[in-house]
Amino acid sequence: MADCIFCKIINKEIPSTIVYEDETVMAFRDIKPVAPVHVLIVPKKHIPSVEALDRDNAGVLADIHLAAKKIAEKEGLSGKGFRLINNCGKDAGQTVFHLHYHLIGGRELGEKLI
Ligand code: AMP
Repeated sequence: MADCIFCKIINKEIPSTIVYEDETVMAFRDIKPVAPVHVLIVPKKHIPSVEALDRDNAGVLADIHLAAKKIAEKEGLSGKGFRLINNCGKDAGQTVFHLHYHLIGGRELGEKLI
């Protein structure tokens, strides 16, 4: 989508630190990391949020999870633990309306989700 910042990152129109890429998924470092490892995993196809998922496009969720596993391995998090977070919609604090999962780790994250 023309005015989507993550589509611009995917199309390499704006810079990012890419840590993983395959046919359907891209992952890059969050510009404002909240932990030593903070990577955003996104589908290459523009899907605004979880609310826009359906039977036809939800297959990418498996790709995102498999990418998360590989990135966690590469970042040295395997066996230590990490968190995979999706914010869906305004009340959840979603600021970029291109589906993305935050992969966060590299320190003890505590037990709270909020
Ligand atoms: P959310 O609040 O779940 O929509 O998360 C959006 C995330 O995108 C935030 O953590 C931002 O720091 C991150 N972000 C915004 N612009 C960029 C960018 N150009 N490169 C990397 N991360 C970004």
